[in-house]
Amino acid sequence: MTPMVTFPETYWKQRKLSRRERTALRDTAAYILQPEHGRGRAVCACGHLGKGSETVALILRKDGTAGTLGTLRCGSPWLCADCAPLKAQQRLERLQKLADALVAVNGKMASITVTVSHGRESSLMNVKNAIETASRSARQGEPWNRQKKLHAVIGVLSAPEVTYSYTNGWHFHIHHSFLTENSGNPEALGHWFVQRYLRYLEKAGFIADLRSQEVSLIRDPRSYIRYLRKGVGRITNDVWSGQKNATRQGKHLYPFDILQRASGSEPMKRLWREYAAVMPGTRSCVITRSIAIRLDIRPDDDCVKVEHGCIAGNLPASIWATLVNRKKTNVILSLLEDRGVEAWQQINSLAHALGAKAALNVELKDELPEEQIPINQFEYRPSAAQIAGLALHLKWHLSGKERNGEAIKVALDRERGHAVASGLTFFPPNIKDVLEIYGNDGVYPSTSPLA
Ligand SMILES: [Zn+2]
Repeated sequence: MTPMVTFPETYWKQRKLSRRERTALRDTAAYILQPEHGRGRAVCACGHLGKGSETVALILRKDGTAGTLGTLRCGSPWLCADCAPLKAQQRLERLQKLADALVAVNGKMASITVTVSHGRESSLMNVKNAIETASRSARQGEPWNRQKKLHAVIGVLSAPEVTYSYTNGWHFHIHHSFLTENSGNPEALGHWFVQRYLRYLEKAGFIADLRSQEVSLIRDPRSYIRYLRKGVGRITNDVWSGQKNATRQGKHLYPFDILQRASGSEPMKRLWREYAAVMPGTRSCVITRSIAIRLDIRPDDDCVKVEHGCIAGNLPASIWATLVNRKKTNVILSLLEDRGVEAWQQINSLAHALGAKAALNVELKDELPEEQIPINQFEYRPSAAQIAGLALHLKWHLSGKERNGEAIKVALDRERGHAVASGLTFFPPNIKDVLEIYGNDGVYPSTSPLA
């Protein structure tokens, strides 16, 4: 079963994130990580103009998503919701080749997941260091070399992941894949490795339960990779895929879940900043030279094949820059997705209206007649029931006497945050209605009909 994603139903509906949602999350990340001065993180520049570009080409890809040529891409698999899917797709293609090659030589594979005991007070940096160091130490020295020979080890892949839970804090773990020749026993090696890993952890002053470390033989490497692939469309499973325990899923937040909750929540913003300080630069699923040589595949390559799709038209760089600053690029790209290349005239004039230096409202009213611009597409008007439903859901994560009022406030903040990040104008529902539905446990009072 595909793991459930814990986004609130209202916008995510357990489907893969759309281009506009990814861009909205990217902009939220950039907003939170924007430094007061000096150079920011690469994600803060993602989607901005490349140096020296005079125009930006708007493209519509075959899959119906809109994009740009001539803008910067940060390429961060950890921080950027817009770049992560591309990175994950490239990685999975690499892994698919690896699995094919392993099957071709009759090799074997075991999956070993290691972690450490942690609590809400544990810092991500500490648990990550502890796990990485113990895992590395357990795969060094004479004992490991002897085991390697005994089990005819081809190589080890590592996929670090992190989730967060309200009760237990950061859950950092590494999914290792041990690859051996047919004569080896990767499962036995896995059990040996886990014992040694636990001893190193203990030496470093950490504890871990043997039962929290998983070792399993992968009977069919190709379908294991396909299983990982399933998560690709869904951004929360991308970088952190491989979670098999669906029942535990509900309590775990993936990094982009944290980001999504960061609108109107200081604790979530803090968690995102902590994550952003620790995880970038962590490499995942690196196919080493020795694995590549043994299996006769190409080692890690990050060459990006961009499908250009169809160019809808070009916008002047200055217009694009203003759209970026006003967080309106999403509006333009969404319009291209909704209306297609044929609507370029309309898209172009809206881009000029929204991207012009003068005040927005005046420009909109004066230059473009109402019927040309689908203004209501750029509004977000959640219903009272939507806000009440979200607040009831949030209530369980809050504590204290004030939690009812707090839940509604956070629900509104969050919806507003996402409207803003998506370039939409937010119109809150009538608060009296929200309170009434909320007080009635999410059900409309019997006097009013269901909306
Ligand atoms: Zn990016």
